Amino acid sequence: MINVYFADLTHTAQGIMSKIFPIGTATVAAYARQELGEEIGVKLFKFPEELDKALCKNIPEILCLSNYAWNLQIANTFAKAAKKKKPDLTVVFGGPNFPDSTVERTQFLKKYSSIDFYIIGEGEEGFVNLYKKLKEYGMDSGKLKARKEAVPSCAYVIDEELILEENSRINNLNKVPCPYQMGLLDPFFSMPLIPIIETTRGCPFQCSFCADGKKTADRIFRYDEEKITKTLEYIAQRAKNCDELIIADLNFGMYDFDISTANTLCRLQKETGYPLTIKASAGKNKPEKIINITNILKGSGFLGAALQSTDPEVLKAIKRDNIPTEKIMNLAEFGKEQGNPTYTEIILGLPQDSKEKHFESLRVGVDMGLNSIRMYQLMLLAGTEMASPESRKTFEMIIKWRVLPGCAGNYQILGKEYRIAEYEEIVVGNKTLSFNDYLECRLMNLLVETFINNALFEEIFGLIQAIGLSRFDCLLFILNHPETYPESIKSYFDSYINDTTSDLFETEKELLEHIDQEGSIENYVSGTKGRNELLYHKALCYLSFQDLNNMLCMAALKFLDENGKLTKKIKDYIESLRNFSLLRKKSFENTNLEYVESFKYDFKALSKKNFEIDPNHIEPCGPFTFKIKHNPSQISLIQNSLKIYGKSTSGLARLIQRSNLKKMFREFEYN
Ligand code: SF4
Repeated sequence: MINVYFADLTHTAQGIMSKIFPIGTATVAAYARQELGEEIGVKLFKFPEELDKALCKNIPEILCLSNYAWNLQIANTFAKAAKKKKPDLTVVFGGPNFPDSTVERTQFLKKYSSIDFYIIGEGEEGFVNLYKKLKEYGMDSGKLKARKEAVPSCAYVIDEELILEENSRINNLNKVPCPYQMGLLDPFFSMPLIPIIETTRGCPFQCSFCADGKKTADRIFRYDEEKITKTLEYIAQRAKNCDELIIADLNFGMYDFDISTANTLCRLQKETGYPLTIKASAGKNKPEKIINITNILKGSGFLGAALQSTDPEVLKAIKRDNIPTEKIMNLAEFGKEQGNPTYTEIILGLPQDSKEKHFESLRVGVDMGLNSIRMYQLMLLAGTEMASPESRKTFEMIIKWRVLPGCAGNYQILGKEYRIAEYEEIVVGNKTLSFNDYLECRLMNLLVETFINNALFEEIFGLIQAIGLSRFDCLLFILNHPETYPESIKSYFDSYINDTTSDLFETEKELLEHIDQEGSIENYVSGTKGRNELLYHKALCYLSFQDLNNMLCMAALKFLDENGKLTKKIKDYIESLRNFSLLRKKSFENTNLEYVESFKYDFKALSKKNFEIDPNHIEPCGPFTFKIKHNPSQISLIQNSLKIYGKSTSGLARLIQRSNLKKMFREFEYN
């Protein structure tokens, strides 16, 4: 029997970085078992520690490793170390983090020379083709390469030459067996990982920044209805440690057949209580279908649409069509009516982007009242059109190198310790976006994250909207008036800009030298370097809640005044809100604090209108006395979170980063 290890590694030194089941490698393993039977023995791995233990006992004949931006270096280090111990080991890589041109592919395979074969595109047929070919050569990869024989879906380099044969995609997915139903993923149900399922492959769009935007991936293939249902049932019966399910499809909800998947999920929710939360990338058009599916999934689903940018020139440059803005508005309204969280995604620094265009994109999301604006920096992903030399030149991209947040650590591999960090290229400017404008956009991202996301200050922003002003303009006012920042908040904003710039390196070489320095990896692991600066600094702001709250109330008053909207009634209302917010949100982690306080306004009634009210039209007729305290389920949520993260400032910062803070603010009831 030929032993084959399949590993889809994640970094673990800073907590588990990629928390999903290893579905990609598991599906390849399942297909290989189906086609090759007992001839091969397969083992699956996710954690480096487990792979190391297994390799220490026995190095297999074939080691297959997935390659994503977040695990290339760790996978390569394992491959090198294992090959050193067993030189006749065959190392096979696969995954989207692979360049597209012949020159770059050759360079890649020469740079990562422990890789014997790279499977291009889907791995199932590629691996089986390779295995059969290796068998013809007595499992001797050297002999196979020496003959320079092409293998469908495989690439390798020999004598400086790239040998490669592309292959077509699998158009009948039903011939690929389900790794869940084969039991291959059973051990992962007891690990802190989230089950994931794919019901379709392919995306009809061709966004130039995305690895799935290739023309070859534009046809959609789907698994059989029955297979999807059985897989979901299998997962629901076994997912005891997790409430969540991820659907890996690139446009879930865009097709009629997705409705039957949603109906199955709805049935399973009733029968088994699983899944409580479903995460998926929503389809890029047909919002009415997404609304329909959200209705079926009753609040456990997702509701939103990634925009990336709203500017027509940017969208043209990245070859992307968006849902028309009015249709996203319908999604936002529907979400509000149903109490369903809504989101959009925006990328900073796309070709043709500028400060003004980025702000306009943010304005659309913020003023529409979406609950969450996920803001990303532009990564140049291997194999994408955007990462090509032509594209870099055309758009005059300003590139920097950095360590991927959460992807660094010291790892034991076959008895030796290795310092490993994943790194990436990000775009921090281009011919229409200067570096200084980029930094200003990043600061605006922090304001959106702190004040808008998860509706953390819905009371003030609800008022601003109700009197006909723009929420986003209020954020602009804050951005343009740094003199109004309290010292604490100012220092966090300065530290944020410092973090945004200090972790960037001009070249790959400089970054690698930095990683190699004594203590460097430890700084990443402890979080003093390479942290997610946006969420970390939002957390710091929340730990100075009184200052943050005062700052926003003062800014809102001045903003309203500047726009000729400030009245005595509004002033009075904001003063009341300031105290109300403080009692609910300050020291949110302290579950012993309880308040009984009277207000002139009936905040209970106003909360039912999402605080979207014009104070000029209400008479303060209180006193309304409220008991403000955490309810039992909040207490348990907070206490469990504190057990995980601790009560230190850095622990609380992590808790804030990783939780929905809104669920932790004290509830209030009439006394
Ligand atoms: S729509 Fe999404 S998955 Fe499809 S190419 Fe664009 S970014 Fe990629």
